[in-house]
Amino acid sequence: INREEEYSVLLEERKSVIGRNLSISYRKPLKIVKGALQYLYDDKGDTYIDCVNNPSHVGHCHPVVVKAMQRQIATLNTNSRYLNDHLVEYAKELLSTLPSNLAVVYFTNSGSEANDLAIRMSRHFTGRKDVMVLDHAYHGTSTVAMEMSPYKFDGKGGFGQKPYIHKAVSPDLYRGEFRYDDPLAGEKYAEDVLQILEKNPGKIAAFICETLLGVGGQIPLPDHYLENVYKHIRAAGGVCIADEVQVGFGRVGEKFWGFELQNVQPDIVVLGKPIGNGHPLAAVVVTREIADAFNNGMEYFNTFGGNPVSMVTGRTVLNVIKSEQMQQHALETGNFLMDGLREVMSKHPVISDVRGFGLFVGAEMVKDRTSMEPAVEEINAVVEKMKERGFLLSTDGPLYNVLKIKPPMVFNKQNATDMVRHLDEVLTELNF
Ligand code: PMP
Repeated sequence: INREEEYSVLLEERKSVIGRNLSISYRKPLKIVKGALQYLYDDKGDTYIDCVNNPSHVGHCHPVVVKAMQRQIATLNTNSRYLNDHLVEYAKELLSTLPSNLAVVYFTNSGSEANDLAIRMSRHFTGRKDVMVLDHAYHGTSTVAMEMSPYKFDGKGGFGQKPYIHKAVSPDLYRGEFRYDDPLAGEKYAEDVLQILEKNPGKIAAFICETLLGVGGQIPLPDHYLENVYKHIRAAGGVCIADEVQVGFGRVGEKFWGFELQNVQPDIVVLGKPIGNGHPLAAVVVTREIADAFNNGMEYFNTFGGNPVSMVTGRTVLNVIKSEQMQQHALETGNFLMDGLREVMSKHPVISDVRGFGLFVGAEMVKDRTSMEPAVEEINAVVEKMKERGFLLSTDGPLYNVLKIKPPMVFNKQNATDMVRHLDEVLTELNF
């Protein structure tokens, strides 16, 4: 077969029947036909190490998860209006990983839908409409989630900022107003939230942010940031929502949840991506008080949310994370990887910052370390070259210059060693 010809036919057909505003990775697209743990295989039989796919949390097609799903889908899949052990048991298992103030679970099918529901609940609870978000954030693709996502509404084709949405400054210790050398940066960034609250008295229903910023540029929050933000929000009568869609379930290594790195207890936690290892499953977990306010006479029913197949999937994923000690593995592998990346940074000035927790890592690239001009063409060249060498990476951040690394949690030290060595070689080859 002439594969190049076959790909171009498929690409043309894709363009004719699928919305054209769905992008495709890489200059020469890949046709991935199989996955196993941290590896993906194309139709030519080439193997790739997946360094970016955080939904495949415990690994592509993890056999234990696949078997459990197969068994359940061959037994029963219905809506959640019948008694079902898995629904209740899974909710209890999830709650056991969360602080005790979080007591009630709602299952949905995507992170967008979960964020949408979280905002709706915060509005019921407070009787207010406004929402505060962080600049550059992305919270999903539903209409409400889009309104909460500066990454979308401020960007190309965006509809702009709604009057009831407020943007707080992104607490970026590398590029922002307060930087790594400022021990009070967390408190200072939180001041911006306080000022927005003071300008909008009695209006803010909720503050929502990721507990490490993903689309915002793979940015860990400064120490004491959320502690102060949550204090301000609560003093003003608002609800604090943690979007754990990208970073939850042990990825950050030191803790099971991203918000735990900040020593806070959110009022609402939103879970997605890794929760079902790629199966469409997400959840909103709230306090009893918020759940009671939402239970106002109107039923909340979700056709697929909480179905037995999803519940078995979620339970099995949670079990595998624990039985394979993936949180500890993420901590050790992530630290090892960041050490390697920092060595590469010391040799190649184009890398100017390496940051992260566990297996949620960013490497920022600049043309010049003083001007901090983003190295966009450079990073794109690196991503293409790494792909040719069998490493799937991609970029993120408002300036499109952060290499994002958030592989399936089974990514190991050998994978990290290989990735770092090839990155070093690619940067040398490109003269960066
Ligand atoms: N929140 C965050 C932080 C996300 O990164 C995403 C997806 N990239 C979403 C919510 C939306 O999740 P989904 O695509 O499952 O709707």
